[in-house]
Amino acid sequence: MKPAPFIYHDPRTVNEAAGLLASLDNARVLAGGQSLMPMMNFRYVMPDHLIDLNKVGELAYLRFDGAALHIGAMTRQRELEFSAEVGARCPLLHEALAHVGHRQTRNRGTIGGSLCHLDPSAELVNVTALLGGTLHAASQRGMRDIPFAEFAAAYMTTSLEPDELLAGVTLPLPDRRNGYAFAEFARRHGDFAIVACSALLGLDRNGDIKEAALAISGLGHAPVRPVLIESALLGQKPAGAAFKAAAAEAARLDATADAYVTAAYRQHLARVLTFRALEQAARRAAEQAHG
Ligand code: FAD
Repeated sequence: MKPAPFIYHDPRTVNEAAGLLASLDNARVLAGGQSLMPMMNFRYVMPDHLIDLNKVGELAYLRFDGAALHIGAMTRQRELEFSAEVGARCPLLHEALAHVGHRQTRNRGTIGGSLCHLDPSAELVNVTALLGGTLHAASQRGMRDIPFAEFAAAYMTTSLEPDELLAGVTLPLPDRRNGYAFAEFARRHGDFAIVACSALLGLDRNGDIKEAALAISGLGHAPVRPVLIESALLGQKPAGAAFKAAAAEAARLDATADAYVTAAYRQHLARVLTFRALEQAARRAAEQAHG
């Protein structure tokens, strides 16, 4: 299939792009095109105007300050994958990226596109939820910060206003001594996950859990941060009994069903992947503690 007719715009600045978004009806922004173009070709979306961000240089950046990673919306997934600094300071992001599509799609695909496409089980969406990322929206009215918890409005629908584009995302960096893990189950390598789970664990000097974060994707329209499960882990030994209890609770989380996967199977995967991610994060936290 081919897309419905549209008028193409290729702005050079965020201001120009925001001006177009504010003045045009039924407009969509184009990033890497790895999701939008198939959606247009299948005529799932039929914008009258396509605003191409690929020449808006100021949207592609990768900056670290001591506490956070600042990533421009048009930063290619491959750039994050190849960044030694990301590997050193946020290895979780590298681990998740390895599951995102294929190297060909990561060459073009961007972090902004993944976040705004907002597939319920997109790996970069999961990591942004786990790290408590802040998304930066740009419009003619200025910049607006959106905590990730307020970004997913509904299934594949962000809380960006119609005249806003995503300019970037800030990911707080976890303590280097924390253990991390990303686990997912997909039909084939490169497919979107059916369910994915990421975990961060910090241990105190007695080896007990002092910090725990989980993000489980694929159960609903956005990753779940199961705060009750996270708090139940605190003070526990990072071992089987605590992780089995956490996994059992993960299997009780609400899950959607669709033509391909039952809710019960998603809950089963949540149990298995939560246990695996916690075990892996605990191994890495112990290595850090004794490294
Ligand atoms: P585009 O496709 O250009 O845009 C996606 C959507 O986001 C559009 O609605 C667009 O309007 C909007 N958008 C983009 N940038 C902005 C912005 N700055 N502000 C506002 N709105 C914006 N993804 C995964 O997460 N996991 C996978 O396993 C996976 N497998 C894939 C396999 C294949 C074969 C393919 C083709 C894609 C796969 N993808 C997967 C999708 C891929 O990761 C895309 O890169 C991503 O979903 C969209 O990024 P993009 O830059 O291509 O955005």
